[in-house]
Amino acid sequence: MDAAHMGADLERVLVTEEEIHAKLDELAQFIATEYEGKDLLLVGVLKGAVMVMADLMRALPRSVPVDWMAVSSYGSGTKSSGVVRILKDLDTDITGRHVLIVEDIIDSGLTLSWIRSNLESRSPASVEICTLLRKPDAAKVEVDVQWVGFDIPNEFVVGYGLDYAEDYRGLRVVGTLAPHVYS
Ligand code: 5GP
Ligand code: MG
Ligand code: MG
Repeated sequence: MDAAHMGADLERVLVTEEEIHAKLDELAQFIATEYEGKDLLLVGVLKGAVMVMADLMRALPRSVPVDWMAVSSYGSGTKSSGVVRILKDLDTDITGRHVLIVEDIIDSGLTLSWIRSNLESRSPASVEICTLLRKPDAAKVEVDVQWVGFDIPNEFVVGYGLDYAEDYRGLRVVGTLAPHVYS
């Protein structure tokens, strides 16, 4: 699918490219201050977090190591169930290290809450979360998230790493899909 066509499938843009980058620059400053002099490891959750990770790590004033996890959340269609299976584990031993989970979106919070307890069981120095997007009205479990880019309405969004049937991840904005895409 070409870029122009991807954009034409959007109904509404919720967050623009400029807003995303300004926000990630701002978050990067907070994160750099918080972890100054500490052994920080960024952990991205595949595949949605690739764009956030790429831009956040480049916005940081120092070089920080990165690792990835891939999980599958059992559930029907677009809803997650909280039952999580690790498809790809970290390559890194996180014992004694400061871990910052980098996420695209927190919806029900079930997946992230599972990932966080899983990582906490490995004796890291700390585990915190940074997410670009959060849907406060969709929360099923309370997840203590230190850094949130944007709170958005409880609607299905695509772009900037987020997919619909593996499409639209390459969009530079975050938006909702036009109804004709689903039918
Ligand atoms: P949660 O467990 O918090 O409900 O959501 C887990 C995952 O579902 C997110 O990391 C993301 O991959 C996917 N997800 C949740 N909401 C949306 C959405 O609005 N759009 C897309 N494309 N994926 C979503
Ligand atoms: Mg995600
Ligand atoms: Mg998806």
